[in-house]
Amino acid sequence: MIPVTRPFLPPQEEYQNFIKGIWNRQWLTNMGPLASQLEMNLKDYLKVNHLLFVTNGTIALQMAIKALNLKGEIITTPFSFVATTSTIVWEGCTPVFVDIDEETLCIDASKIEAAITKDTQAILATHVYGNPCDVIAIEKIAKKHNLKVIYDAAHAFGVEVNGKSIFEFGDISTCSLHATKLYHSIEGGLITTSNPDLLKKLASIRNFGISGFDSFSELGINGKNSEFHAAMGIVNLNHIDEIKNKRQQIANRYDEKLKGFNHYRPKWYANSANNNSYYPIIIESEELLLKCKEVLQLNEIGTRRYFYPSLASALPYLEPTEMPITDNISKRVLCLPMYHDLTLEEVDHICRLMLRTQNN
Ligand SMILES: *Cc1c(COP(=O)(O)O)cnc(C)c1O
Repeated sequence: MIPVTRPFLPPQEEYQNFIKGIWNRQWLTNMGPLASQLEMNLKDYLKVNHLLFVTNGTIALQMAIKALNLKGEIITTPFSFVATTSTIVWEGCTPVFVDIDEETLCIDASKIEAAITKDTQAILATHVYGNPCDVIAIEKIAKKHNLKVIYDAAHAFGVEVNGKSIFEFGDISTCSLHATKLYHSIEGGLITTSNPDLLKKLASIRNFGISGFDSFSELGINGKNSEFHAAMGIVNLNHIDEIKNKRQQIANRYDEKLKGFNHYRPKWYANSANNNSYYPIIIESEELLLKCKEVLQLNEIGTRRYFYPSLASALPYLEPTEMPITDNISKRVLCLPMYHDLTLEEVDHICRLMLRTQNN
């Protein structure tokens, strides 16, 4: 059985060493020493000034919208995980979809201005598969129209643009540290901002808006994470280079072995390395995709139609909107198995099956 993804687990002793400390201190959650340690290690690794470790990537998005006090319309992408859109609705705002670019699969910045109305307050865009959005164009539009920018950087752990962390763009960026992601703390999330006042507000929101023993400064939520999750994050961060190297080798092998297969890969942002958080391909036709998916499944190989269908048409709580490019791409995109201990022989096997299916 080859799953589409498999969580990284470090050697068990490395994790257990941290667990002993938790037993000694009897401090289990509420911004404990390991959570603080993880935040410091991550700031260092990601080269960001301000960062908060939170419960998960979804709460990170909720907190971002709250902290920026957004109401009304938020321009967003229909090609993402459901949490990007559902959070906007959850926070009482209205998602306004703008179609994606068919080469990068990120929101098409050239179509954003046409979607701006008097009620637009922000842009919430996803760096899909870790491929940076056109952050420069989006920044210009946001400045011109006085909009806030949030990036859902759930896939973009460790990504840099011209040597600068992708988390430094926009007003706030969020990341998910869920077990299925490139780097994880079992469940977890990150919020980053380069604005220290905003960070203070987010830190307060994370802890119920409590400002002192008997006082509250604002509306908050429980966005904290535990020492156990922080321990997993600390240990896994020590393995991140090894994880990224393995994934790069796997991606290179797919690139090489799929040369004769009718597909294309997302066009990557210039001066930014692919973190290989996924291995998506856009196949020539949905028919070929379905055939390949079936053949692979018969051979106990998992794939995922990630992201299908378009968020602009799939959600029962929103009026369906046609998004021609997303509708087309989402039918033809398939994520192939990608995880640290997938072997190159397994990659060869997957590619052979796909080529055989195409040429049959
Ligand atoms: C995984 C993911 C999320 C949600 O993160 P959780 O940690 O699972 O809550 C949000 N957006 C995108 C694009 C994701 O892939």
